Amino acid sequence: MLYNQIQEAKGNIRVFCRCRPLRKEEISAGYPMVTDFDAAKDGELGVFAGGSTKKIFKFDRVYTPKDDQVDVFADASPMVVSVLDGYNVCIFAYGQTGTGKTFTMEGSEQNRGVNYRTLKQLFKIAEERKDTFTYSISVSVLEVYNEQIRDLLATSPTSKKLEIRQASEGVHHVPGIVEAKVENIKEVWSVLQAGSNARAVGSNNVNEHSSRSHCMLCIMVSTKNLMNGECTKSKLWLVDLAGSERLAKTEVQGDRLKEAQNINRSLSALGDVISALASKSCHIPFRNSKLTHLLQDSLGGDSKTLMFVQISPSEQDLGETLSSLNFATRVR
Ligand code: ADP
Ligand code: MG
Repeated sequence: MLYNQIQEAKGNIRVFCRCRPLRKEEISAGYPMVTDFDAAKDGELGVFAGGSTKKIFKFDRVYTPKDDQVDVFADASPMVVSVLDGYNVCIFAYGQTGTGKTFTMEGSEQNRGVNYRTLKQLFKIAEERKDTFTYSISVSVLEVYNEQIRDLLATSPTSKKLEIRQASEGVHHVPGIVEAKVENIKEVWSVLQAGSNARAVGSNNVNEHSSRSHCMLCIMVSTKNLMNGECTKSKLWLVDLAGSERLAKTEVQGDRLKEAQNINRSLSALGDVISALASKSCHIPFRNSKLTHLLQDSLGGDSKTLMFVQISPSEQDLGETLSSLNFATRVR
Protein backbone atom coordinates (compact mmCIF):
# COMPACT_ATOMS: atom_id res chain seq x y z
CA MET A 1 0.00 0.00 0.00
CA LEU A 2 2.81 2.32 0.90
CA TYR A 3 4.40 1.81 -2.48
CA ASN A 4 1.19 2.75 -4.29
CA GLN A 5 0.76 5.81 -2.14
CA ILE A 6 4.25 6.94 -2.96
CA GLN A 7 3.68 6.31 -6.64
CA GLU A 8 0.60 8.44 -6.43
CA ALA A 9 2.56 11.25 -4.83
CA LYS A 10 5.11 11.36 -7.66
CA GLY A 11 5.14 14.51 -9.73
CA ASN A 12 6.43 17.74 -8.40
CA ILE A 13 3.81 20.23 -7.44
CA ARG A 14 0.35 19.70 -6.10
CA VAL A 15 -2.18 22.35 -5.23
CA PHE A 16 -4.99 21.64 -2.78
CA CYS A 17 -7.67 24.25 -2.27
CA ARG A 18 -9.38 24.43 1.12
CA CYS A 19 -12.33 26.63 1.98
CA ARG A 20 -13.19 27.50 5.57
CA PRO A 21 -16.80 27.47 6.80
CA LEU A 22 -18.80 30.70 6.99
CA ARG A 23 -18.45 32.28 10.43
CA LYS A 24 -21.48 32.79 12.67
CA GLU A 25 -21.31 36.57 12.17
CA GLU A 26 -21.19 36.11 8.40
CA ILE A 27 -24.24 33.90 8.49
CA SER A 28 -26.18 36.31 10.67
CA ALA A 29 -25.11 39.28 8.54
CA GLY A 30 -26.50 37.39 5.55
CA TYR A 31 -23.32 37.38 3.46
CA PRO A 32 -23.87 34.95 0.61
CA MET A 33 -21.39 32.24 -0.24
CA VAL A 34 -19.63 32.76 -3.56
CA THR A 35 -18.14 29.29 -3.69
CA ASP A 36 -19.64 26.29 -5.43
CA PHE A 37 -18.55 22.75 -4.64
CA ASP A 38 -20.72 20.77 -7.08
CA ALA A 39 -17.65 19.38 -8.83
CA ALA A 40 -15.31 19.44 -5.82
CA LYS A 41 -14.82 15.67 -6.13
CA ASP A 42 -13.29 16.27 -9.56
CA GLY A 43 -11.01 18.96 -8.21
CA GLU A 44 -13.13 21.84 -9.49
CA LEU A 45 -14.07 24.89 -7.56
CA GLY A 46 -16.70 27.30 -8.85
CA VAL A 47 -16.69 30.96 -7.82
CA PHE A 48 -19.48 33.41 -8.55
CA ALA A 49 -17.37 36.39 -9.40
CA GLY A 50 -20.11 38.95 -9.92
CA GLY A 51 -23.45 38.42 -11.59
CA SER A 52 -24.35 34.85 -12.40
CA THR A 53 -21.11 33.97 -14.15
CA LYS A 54 -19.31 31.14 -12.51
CA LYS A 55 -15.54 30.93 -12.84
CA ILE A 56 -14.07 27.46 -12.60
CA PHE A 57 -10.68 26.79 -10.99
CA LYS A 58 -9.03 23.40 -11.23
CA PHE A 59 -6.84 21.91 -8.50
CA ASP A 60 -5.51 18.53 -7.45
CA ARG A 61 -8.01 18.54 -4.59
CA VAL A 62 -10.80 20.84 -3.50
CA TYR A 63 -11.98 20.64 0.12
CA THR A 64 -15.39 21.91 1.09
CA PRO A 65 -15.94 23.56 4.47
CA LYS A 66 -17.21 20.19 5.71
CA ASP A 67 -14.01 18.30 5.03
CA ASP A 68 -11.99 17.79 8.18
CA GLN A 69 -8.36 17.45 9.24
CA VAL A 70 -8.41 13.68 8.68
CA ASP A 71 -9.64 14.08 5.08
CA VAL A 72 -6.95 16.64 4.36
CA PHE A 73 -4.12 14.64 5.88
CA ALA A 74 -5.18 11.49 4.08
CA ASP A 75 -4.32 13.22 0.80
CA ALA A 76 -1.17 14.93 2.04
CA SER A 77 0.35 11.95 3.78
CA PRO A 78 1.89 10.12 0.78
CA MET A 79 3.87 13.23 0.08
CA VAL A 80 5.14 13.73 3.62
CA VAL A 81 6.03 10.07 3.89
CA SER A 82 8.29 10.32 0.87
CA VAL A 83 10.77 12.25 3.05
CA LEU A 84 11.58 8.84 4.57
CA ASP A 85 12.51 7.66 1.08
CA GLY A 86 15.02 10.44 0.71
CA TYR A 87 12.94 13.13 -0.99
CA ASN A 88 12.97 16.76 0.07
CA VAL A 89 9.44 18.00 0.56
CA CYS A 90 7.82 21.36 1.09
CA ILE A 91 4.24 21.97 2.18
CA PHE A 92 2.90 25.44 2.63
CA ALA A 93 -0.38 27.18 3.29
CA TYR A 94 -1.11 30.37 1.34
CA GLY A 95 -4.02 32.75 1.68
CA GLN A 96 -5.69 35.73 3.23
CA THR A 97 -5.59 36.05 7.03
CA GLY A 98 -8.51 34.23 8.63
CA THR A 99 -8.94 31.58 5.93
CA GLY A 100 -7.49 28.69 7.96
CA LYS A 101 -3.75 28.50 7.18
CA THR A 102 -2.89 27.93 10.83
CA PHE A 103 -5.89 25.65 11.22
CA THR A 104 -4.62 23.45 8.39
CA MET A 105 -0.96 23.40 9.45
CA GLU A 106 -1.09 23.60 13.25
CA GLY A 107 -4.70 22.97 14.11
CA SER A 108 -5.56 22.67 17.77
CA GLU A 109 -5.18 20.00 20.40
CA GLN A 110 -8.66 18.63 19.56
CA ASN A 111 -8.21 19.13 15.88
CA ARG A 112 -4.58 18.52 15.03
CA GLY A 113 -3.26 19.79 11.74
CA VAL A 114 -0.72 18.68 9.17
CA ASN A 115 2.38 19.40 11.30
CA TYR A 116 1.55 17.08 14.16
CA ARG A 117 -0.01 14.40 11.97
CA THR A 118 3.06 14.40 9.75
CA LEU A 119 5.46 13.77 12.61
CA LYS A 120 3.21 11.12 14.05
CA GLN A 121 3.10 9.37 10.70
CA LEU A 122 6.88 9.58 10.28
CA PHE A 123 7.48 7.91 13.65
CA LYS A 124 4.95 5.23 12.85
CA ILE A 125 6.55 4.33 9.53
CA ALA A 126 10.06 4.57 10.97
CA GLU A 127 9.00 1.98 13.54
CA GLU A 128 7.52 -0.28 10.85
CA ARG A 129 10.75 -0.13 8.89
CA LYS A 130 13.14 -0.50 11.80
CA ASP A 131 14.56 -3.82 10.64
CA THR A 132 15.81 -2.23 7.44
CA PHE A 133 16.38 1.43 8.21
CA THR A 134 17.46 3.57 11.12
CA TYR A 135 16.02 7.05 11.07
CA SER A 136 17.09 10.01 13.12
CA ILE A 137 14.66 12.92 13.16
CA SER A 138 15.28 16.48 14.31
CA VAL A 139 13.29 19.68 13.99
CA SER A 140 13.93 23.40 13.79
CA VAL A 141 11.25 26.02 14.21
CA LEU A 142 11.79 29.47 12.85
CA GLU A 143 10.04 32.58 11.83
CA VAL A 144 10.76 35.00 9.03
CA TYR A 145 9.63 38.50 9.82
CA ASN A 146 10.69 41.57 7.85
CA GLU A 147 13.28 39.47 6.03
CA GLN A 148 14.90 38.42 9.28
CA ILE A 149 15.18 34.88 10.52
CA ARG A 150 14.34 34.20 14.15
CA ASP A 151 15.06 30.87 15.81
CA LEU A 152 11.99 29.99 17.84
CA LEU A 153 13.78 27.20 19.68
CA ALA A 154 16.73 29.32 20.83
CA THR A 155 16.82 29.31 24.62
CA SER A 156 18.89 32.44 24.98
CA PRO A 157 18.42 35.50 22.83
CA THR A 158 21.31 36.13 20.51
CA SER A 159 22.14 39.38 18.81
CA LYS A 160 23.84 37.53 15.98
CA LYS A 161 21.94 37.72 12.74
CA LEU A 162 20.96 34.33 11.39
CA GLU A 163 21.99 33.83 7.78
CA ILE A 164 21.54 31.11 5.19
CA ARG A 165 24.66 29.32 4.01
CA GLN A 166 25.26 26.74 1.36
CA ALA A 167 27.13 23.76 2.81
CA SER A 168 27.35 21.85 -0.47
CA GLU A 169 25.40 21.44 -3.69
CA GLY A 170 21.72 21.29 -2.75
CA VAL A 171 22.37 21.67 0.97
CA HIS A 172 21.47 24.97 2.58
CA HIS A 173 21.42 25.55 6.29
CA VAL A 174 21.33 28.26 8.91
CA PRO A 175 24.45 28.01 11.08
CA GLY A 176 23.69 28.32 14.78
CA ILE A 177 20.05 27.38 14.57
CA VAL A 178 18.70 24.86 17.10
CA GLU A 179 18.02 21.41 15.68
CA ALA A 180 16.10 19.51 18.35
CA LYS A 181 16.40 15.77 18.07
CA VAL A 182 13.04 14.12 18.64
CA GLU A 183 12.50 10.46 19.46
CA ASN A 184 8.75 10.28 19.80
CA ILE A 185 5.57 12.24 19.33
CA LYS A 186 5.47 13.47 22.95
CA GLU A 187 8.79 15.21 22.48
CA VAL A 188 7.53 16.71 19.24
CA TRP A 189 4.54 18.19 20.95
CA SER A 190 6.69 19.94 23.53
CA VAL A 191 9.00 21.29 20.83
CA LEU A 192 6.05 22.62 18.82
CA GLN A 193 4.63 24.23 21.96
CA ALA A 194 7.99 25.84 22.75
CA GLY A 195 8.09 27.23 19.22
CA SER A 196 4.63 28.68 19.37
CA ASN A 197 5.23 30.20 22.82
CA ALA A 198 8.42 31.84 21.58
CA ARG A 199 6.47 33.31 18.70
CA ALA A 200 4.35 35.29 21.12
CA VAL A 201 7.33 36.81 22.95
CA GLY A 202 7.89 40.45 22.16
CA SER A 203 4.69 41.03 20.24
CA ASN A 204 1.72 42.73 21.85
CA ASN A 205 -0.77 41.11 19.51
CA VAL A 206 0.09 37.51 18.80
CA ASN A 207 -2.48 36.97 16.08
CA GLU A 208 -1.53 40.08 14.23
CA HIS A 209 2.14 39.30 14.49
CA SER A 210 1.69 35.74 13.27
CA SER A 211 -0.32 36.85 10.28
CA ARG A 212 2.60 39.05 9.22
CA SER A 213 5.38 36.53 9.52
CA HIS A 214 6.10 33.17 7.95
CA CYS A 215 6.23 30.35 10.47
CA MET A 216 8.45 27.54 9.30
CA LEU A 217 8.94 24.07 10.70
CA CYS A 218 11.83 22.08 9.27
CA ILE A 219 11.97 18.34 9.82
CA MET A 220 15.36 16.83 9.08
CA VAL A 221 15.66 13.10 8.53
CA SER A 222 18.90 11.12 8.47
CA THR A 223 18.48 7.63 7.15
CA LYS A 224 20.77 4.66 7.43
CA ASN A 225 20.02 1.69 5.27
CA LEU A 226 20.98 -1.30 7.43
CA MET A 227 21.28 -3.58 4.40
CA ASN A 228 23.97 -1.67 2.54
CA GLY A 229 25.13 0.87 5.13
CA GLU A 230 24.13 3.80 2.90
CA CYS A 231 23.31 7.08 4.70
CA THR A 232 21.10 9.83 3.28
CA LYS A 233 19.65 13.09 4.51
CA SER A 234 16.39 14.69 3.52
CA LYS A 235 14.20 17.46 4.81
CA LEU A 236 10.61 18.48 4.98
CA TRP A 237 9.46 22.07 5.36
CA LEU A 238 6.01 22.84 6.74
CA VAL A 239 5.19 26.50 6.32
CA ASP A 240 2.38 28.71 7.56
CA LEU A 241 2.81 31.78 5.36
CA ALA A 242 2.06 35.37 6.25
CA GLY A 243 -1.38 36.60 5.17
CA SER A 244 -1.54 37.39 1.46
CA GLU A 245 -4.08 40.24 1.73
CA ARG A 246 -3.37 43.68 0.33
CA LEU A 247 -3.83 46.46 2.83
CA ALA A 248 -5.95 49.51 2.31
CA LYS A 249 -3.75 52.42 1.24
CA THR A 250 -4.78 54.47 4.26
CA GLU A 251 -3.61 51.74 6.62
CA VAL A 252 -0.18 51.51 5.18
CA GLN A 253 2.31 53.80 6.84
CA GLY A 254 5.59 53.56 8.71
CA ASP A 255 6.47 50.14 10.13
CA ARG A 256 3.31 48.69 8.71
CA LEU A 257 4.35 49.75 5.23
CA LYS A 258 7.71 48.06 5.57
CA GLU A 259 6.06 44.89 6.87
CA ALA A 260 3.56 44.89 4.02
CA GLN A 261 6.30 45.38 1.44
CA ASN A 262 8.34 42.53 2.89
CA ILE A 263 5.37 40.17 2.89
CA ASN A 264 4.50 41.15 -0.63
CA ARG A 265 8.01 40.71 -1.82
CA SER A 266 8.46 37.29 -0.27
CA LEU A 267 5.12 35.93 -1.46
CA SER A 268 5.77 37.18 -4.99
CA ALA A 269 9.24 35.66 -4.82
CA LEU A 270 7.64 32.33 -3.91
CA GLY A 271 5.24 32.59 -6.84
CA ASP A 272 8.11 33.53 -9.18
CA VAL A 273 10.25 30.60 -8.05
CA ILE A 274 7.48 28.07 -8.44
CA SER A 275 6.41 29.33 -11.85
CA ALA A 276 10.05 29.46 -13.01
CA LEU A 277 10.40 25.83 -11.90
CA ALA A 278 7.18 24.87 -13.63
CA SER A 279 8.28 26.46 -16.89
CA LYS A 280 11.72 24.80 -16.55
CA SER A 281 13.40 28.18 -16.71
CA CYS A 282 17.19 28.03 -16.39
CA HIS A 283 17.35 30.77 -13.79
CA ILE A 284 15.36 30.19 -10.63
CA PRO A 285 15.36 33.33 -8.47
CA PHE A 286 15.69 31.62 -5.07
CA ARG A 287 17.71 34.43 -3.57
CA ASN A 288 15.07 37.13 -3.92
CA SER A 289 13.71 36.47 -0.44
CA LYS A 290 14.69 34.70 2.77
CA LEU A 291 11.64 32.50 2.37
CA THR A 292 12.60 31.07 -1.03
CA HIS A 293 16.28 30.93 -0.11
CA LEU A 294 15.45 28.81 2.96
CA LEU A 295 13.19 26.54 0.94
CA GLN A 296 15.61 26.22 -1.96
CA ASP A 297 16.56 22.56 -1.38
CA SER A 298 12.93 21.55 -1.10
CA LEU A 299 11.61 23.32 -4.19
CA GLY A 300 12.42 21.98 -7.63
CA GLY A 301 14.74 19.17 -8.66
CA ASP A 302 13.50 15.88 -7.27
CA SER A 303 11.64 17.49 -4.45
CA LYS A 304 7.91 17.51 -3.91
CA THR A 305 5.84 20.55 -3.22
CA LEU A 306 2.32 20.84 -1.90
CA MET A 307 0.53 24.14 -1.65
CA PHE A 308 -2.68 24.64 0.24
CA VAL A 309 -4.52 27.64 -1.09
CA GLN A 310 -6.87 28.66 1.67
CA ILE A 311 -9.98 30.67 0.88
CA SER A 312 -13.07 32.20 2.42
CA PRO A 313 -16.53 31.37 1.04
CA SER A 314 -17.89 34.81 1.86
CA GLU A 315 -18.85 37.40 -0.73
CA GLN A 316 -17.14 39.99 1.42
CA ASP A 317 -13.77 38.37 0.70
CA LEU A 318 -14.33 37.81 -3.02
CA GLY A 319 -11.48 40.07 -4.17
CA GLU A 320 -8.89 38.36 -1.97
CA THR A 321 -10.29 34.93 -2.82
CA LEU A 322 -9.86 35.55 -6.55
CA SER A 323 -6.39 36.87 -6.03
CA SER A 324 -5.37 33.77 -4.02
CA LEU A 325 -6.92 31.45 -6.60
CA ASN A 326 -5.07 33.24 -9.37
CA PHE A 327 -1.81 32.93 -7.48
CA ALA A 328 -2.42 29.22 -7.04
CA THR A 329 -3.32 28.79 -10.71
CA ARG A 330 -0.13 30.52 -11.72
CA VAL A 331 2.04 28.09 -9.77
CA ARG A 332 0.26 24.97 -10.85
P1 ADP B 1 -5.20 32.05 9.23
O1 ADP B 1 -4.09 31.30 9.89
O2 ADP B 1 -5.26 31.83 7.76
O3 ADP B 1 -5.21 33.51 9.57
P2 ADP B 1 -6.86 30.58 11.05
O4 ADP B 1 -6.31 29.21 10.88
O5 ADP B 1 -6.44 31.33 12.27
O6 ADP B 1 -6.59 31.47 9.76
O7 ADP B 1 -8.45 30.45 10.97
C1 ADP B 1 -9.34 31.48 11.31
C2 ADP B 1 -10.51 30.90 12.12
O8 ADP B 1 -11.29 30.04 11.32
C3 ADP B 1 -10.04 30.07 13.29
O9 ADP B 1 -10.91 30.29 14.38
C4 ADP B 1 -10.14 28.65 12.79
O10 ADP B 1 -10.33 27.74 13.83
C5 ADP B 1 -11.36 28.72 11.87
N1 ADP B 1 -11.24 27.77 10.75
C6 ADP B 1 -10.44 27.89 9.68
N2 ADP B 1 -10.58 26.87 8.83
C7 ADP B 1 -11.50 26.05 9.37
C8 ADP B 1 -12.09 24.80 8.98
N3 ADP B 1 -11.75 24.22 7.83
N4 ADP B 1 -13.01 24.26 9.80
C9 ADP B 1 -13.35 24.86 10.95
N5 ADP B 1 -12.84 26.04 11.38
C10 ADP B 1 -11.92 26.62 10.61
MG1 MG C 1 -2.56 32.09 11.08
